[in-house]
Order: sequence, then structure tokens, then C-alpha cells
Amino acid sequence: MRLVLLGPPGAGKGTQAGSLKEDLKVPHISTGDILREEMKAGTALGLDVKKYVESGKLVPDEVVTKIIETRLVAGDKANQGFMLDGFPRTKKQAEDLDAILTKANKPLDYAIYFDTSLPVIVQRLTGRRVCRQCNALYHTANKPPKKEGVCDTCAGPLYQRPDDNEETIKTRMDVYLKSTAPIIDYYQAQGKLKKVNADKDALDVKGHLMKIFHADGKINQDKVRRRN
Ligand code: ADP
Ligand code: ZN
Repeated sequence: MRLVLLGPPGAGKGTQAGSLKEDLKVPHISTGDILREEMKAGTALGLDVKKYVESGKLVPDEVVTKIIETRLVAGDKANQGFMLDGFPRTKKQAEDLDAILTKANKPLDYAIYFDTSLPVIVQRLTGRRVCRQCNALYHTANKPPKKEGVCDTCAGPLYQRPDDNEETIKTRMDVYLKSTAPIIDYYQAQGKLKKVNADKDALDVKGHLMKIFHADGKINQDKVRRRN
């Protein structure tokens, strides 16, 4: 299955991808996670993108598209399928992704639009905590770890992303509405858009997604392919 997860920050794209990657056996590729890892490692790329990420602005299209192209082509991810989270974020990125996938003869199955309201977004982002080691996601109220400040999965330390503060959240929402929301129509026009109500809790959203995949025979088809 080849999916794009679309929607505002805090919509729960990363949470669903983290859960679905086990069921679908499809890798989760998050440009935000990749950029934060580069920053943490202090690479040249990490230093270049730091000012954008910390202020909630978009990293230039060519930088992120190159990252995705390398993962999809060199990592051969287009063969196993993928869930792209946080990419594409502009119309240009969406067009470039189509070009990459057309060339590889691996078109997208769906773009899933996580429809979310503003109060829910703010509540989710301000309470979000992230594992420094494995990027697992938690929330102080909605999904607290068993032991405060410690990841359930890998025992790594949890932290609050510096861009999850009210002011930067506002910038990220403005950027989302101006640059990213228009690609909802782009995928609608291709007949690939599926919309889910992402204000609901994570289990309900996952149930809705699984229903979509089953209804189109995507899950069974994949199983057959694996057996062959
Ligand atoms: P969220 O979905 O919570 O807003 P992400 O982790 O997806 O956050 O992204 C964090 C930051 O990384 C963005 O605010 C932006 O600076 C940068 N970034 C991630 N993906 C892209 C992209 N596709 N294009 C440009 N910038 C990006
Ligand atoms: Zn962890």
C-alpha cells in the first residue's frame, strides 16, 4: 500500500502511521522525524534546516523532495509500499512526488485527509511528548506513558518538541492553511482522496482507515502478494 497522510499538525498522522505500520507491514516515512534526526546528529543538512523547523516555517521544497526521493528510490521503499507523513506539504512537492512515482511505475493508492478542528489540534500539540530515541508519540492526557517521562517501548527519555509552543503552533497552522490545504483538492481531482474525521480518538480513526482499506480489497490483495 502506498499512502500519503494529509492534514494539519496535530491531526494524528504520526500516531496512525505508528500503529498501522505493524498491521500493514508498510514503513512510516516522516519528513519531520528525518529532519529532527539530522538536526540532532548535527549534519550539514541538519544545520541548514534548523532555522525553518524551529520557527515552524517550511524547509525549501527541493531539500525535502530530495530526501524523499532518496528514501523511496535508493531504499526501495516504493516496492514495499510506504506511508508518507508530512510530505507532500506544497503543491510543488505533490507534483514532484507524482513524477517520482510515475517513473517508478508505483502510483499512490490513496491520500488520506485527516479532517481536524482547531481546538483539538491545539490540545494535541501542547500535550504531545516524543521519545528522543525511537520517535514514539505520547500525550500527557490522551496517551500518557506508563512511567512519566519514559518511553513504554524503548525506555528512552520523552521530550516536548520546541516547536510545540503556542506561538509556533500558530505559524505552523498559517503555513498549513496557505501552502498545504490546497493539495487536498489536488488529490480530490485525481480521485485518490479519502477523508476521515480525525477529531475522534485514535482507535476510532484507525477503525475507519481499516474499513477503507478492506472495502477496496487493499489489505487482502497485499496478503496474497506476500504469499506468492
Ligand atoms: P507537524 O506535522 O507536527 O507540524 P512535522 O514533524 O511533520 O510536524 O514537521 C516539523 C517541521 O519540519 C515543519 O514545521 C517544517 O519546518 C519541517 N518539514 C517537515 N516536512 C516538511 C515538508 N514536506 N516540507 C517543508 N518542510 C517540512
Ligand atoms: Zn522510545
